[in-house]
Amino acid sequence: MIDFELSDEQKAAVEMAHDFALNELRPIAAEWDEKGEFPRDLILKKAVDAGLTTSGIPEEYGGGGLDPLTGAMVSEELFWGCAGLATSIGANSLATAPILLAGTEEQKKKWLPRLSEGDGKLAAFALTEPEAGSDVAGIKTTAKDEGDHWVINGQKCFITNGGIASVYTVFANTDPSKGYRGLAGFIVGGDYEGISMGKHENKMGIRASHTAEVFFDNVKVPKEDLLGQVGKAFYIVMQTLDATRAGVAAAAVGVARAAFEEALAYAKQRVQFGQPIIMNQGISFMLTDMLMQIEAGRRLYYYAGWLATKAQGGDKQAAAKLSIASSCAKAFCGDMAMKVTTDAVQILGGYGFMKDYPVEKYMRDAKIMQIYEGTNQIQRVVLAANLMGMKELKQL
Ligand SMILES: Cc1cc2nc3c(=O)[nH]c(=O)nc-3n(C[C@H](O)[C@H](O)[C@H](O)COP(=O)(O)OP(=O)(O)OC[C@H]3O[C@@H](n4cnc5c(N)ncnc54)[C@H](O)[C@@H]3O)c2cc1C
Repeated sequence: MIDFELSDEQKAAVEMAHDFALNELRPIAAEWDEKGEFPRDLILKKAVDAGLTTSGIPEEYGGGGLDPLTGAMVSEELFWGCAGLATSIGANSLATAPILLAGTEEQKKKWLPRLSEGDGKLAAFALTEPEAGSDVAGIKTTAKDEGDHWVINGQKCFITNGGIASVYTVFANTDPSKGYRGLAGFIVGGDYEGISMGKHENKMGIRASHTAEVFFDNVKVPKEDLLGQVGKAFYIVMQTLDATRAGVAAAAVGVARAAFEEALAYAKQRVQFGQPIIMNQGISFMLTDMLMQIEAGRRLYYYAGWLATKAQGGDKQAAAKLSIASSCAKAFCGDMAMKVTTDAVQILGGYGFMKDYPVEKYMRDAKIMQIYEGTNQIQRVVLAANLMGMKELKQL
């Protein structure tokens, strides 16, 4: 028996996130999209008080203790509210995932509780570099062992909350001659000397999130803040992304759902040729296809989130299935959100192209779902690699 019923805890989390999205994110979404900035002073404390920046961190480290599936459901709601604001609010879960996966008990106690202190703090996952995006092994940032500490030098780009984060998980190479076998992860305080913010990006979509370059110039990191072992960071990154992709898929479903609702309402009230445009099969079939795609995407992220939850609990079989399931969910939902939001603009006609309606924003926001946390081509690279070893398509 498969149960599609949400638990009481899940229903409460979804309801709370939906209310937050409706009452706190939607009213300010258009203004900060236009400004192209994350309104930290306006929204961060509210998000912290609602437990949204630390919801996936276990309770013993000051978080909300939500499992990955419930966390993904929360993402769907927040991204339904505003994908830009939700990206900056949600970035803590990507940044803290490597600490939860590979950190020691001391590291978790040292770094995680500070994210829910005071007015709240932001964390950033610093992997991407100008010459190393999809090709993680090409990282040029170096980490040098200086006896009692490490010294990090390099440049990261496109970092969500880069330059405004209090905690970074940073990936660097300890020995470039070893390629990906030289990679190591570090937990780095945002106030450490030598960290500076470069260009603040002016983006097409998710404009209310903060994205920037970050420079590490002789940044000293205590030995105790090495994440896992030297040479194993490539696997930490891959495991992190496997665990968080259900959340990106859910985010894409949230954006698509927002666009669908807007298009449906418009199609029912817009009259042309003497009848609402939804009476034309050309329009109603677009809406039915949007509905089907959103429903399919939601089931894919539910499954990936369910596997991620079981894997987090130590289920090795679930962990083995997670990579395929999360890549399927992320690629499908990212492509789906792009199609659904584009169709939503089409249904609104010329009005869809105007900033007076939110669908043009949804379309701009959806594009990132095909790019960040591994492009949709890279998801297919992962899936193709799995296909090469696959003999039959059993229930995954
Ligand atoms: C708004 C935003 C926020 C981001 N936030 C973060 C963050 O917080 N932390 C972080 O570390 N990074 C972040 N990123 C970076 C993001 O993860 C990368 O942009 C992404 O992984 C792609 O890397 P790239 O941009 O260098 O593209 P490239 O890797 O140069 O890819 C260019 C194109 O080539 C394709 N391609 C590359 N290799 C292959 C292949 N083998 N087969 C087929 N196609 C291929 C890609 O799919 C893409 O279409 C963010 C990016 C954006 C835009």
